[in-house]
Amino acid sequence: MCIFCKIVNNEIPSYKVYEDDDFLAILDITQTTDGHTLVFPKKHVKDILEIDDETLSKLIILTKKLSENIMTKMNATGLNLLNNTNESAGQSVHHIHFHIIPRYDENDEVTIAFNRKSDFNLQSILNKIND
Ligand code: AMP
Ligand code: ZN
Repeated sequence: MCIFCKIVNNEIPSYKVYEDDDFLAILDITQTTDGHTLVFPKKHVKDILEIDDETLSKLIILTKKLSENIMTKMNATGLNLLNNTNESAGQSVHHIHFHIIPRYDENDEVTIAFNRKSDFNLQSILNKIND
């Protein structure tokens, strides 16, 4: 059983931000920034490619509501929402979740860098995607 399923079953303790019959939100154990929260469905689904549309819709709407509340209560000035799919993208827990990462200023502990490659061809990339 995966670690988030164990948390759902109360086999592992967690700091619960929100819970209903179908969803759970907990504080991330790393607290990248204060209030870093993980939101996920209670039923085990691996990732965004496998989750059904109805559950995903509810999950993202809940993520928005929790984001608003966390930002207000924590006096955050910004927010990153993050979802990782597969190891190459940094997914370490294979039970779908959104990270809510409140941001406080540009110089906090979080770095998200979109580095510009030097050699690429936009048209050939587009041709591949739209083939
Ligand atoms: P990801 O790398 O996107 O799969 O994110 C998994 C997240 O789960 C990481 O940020 C971990 O810090 C977090 N995590 C792992 N175990 C626990 C736990 N027992 N309680 C809270 N957060 C956890
Ligand atoms: Zn699971």
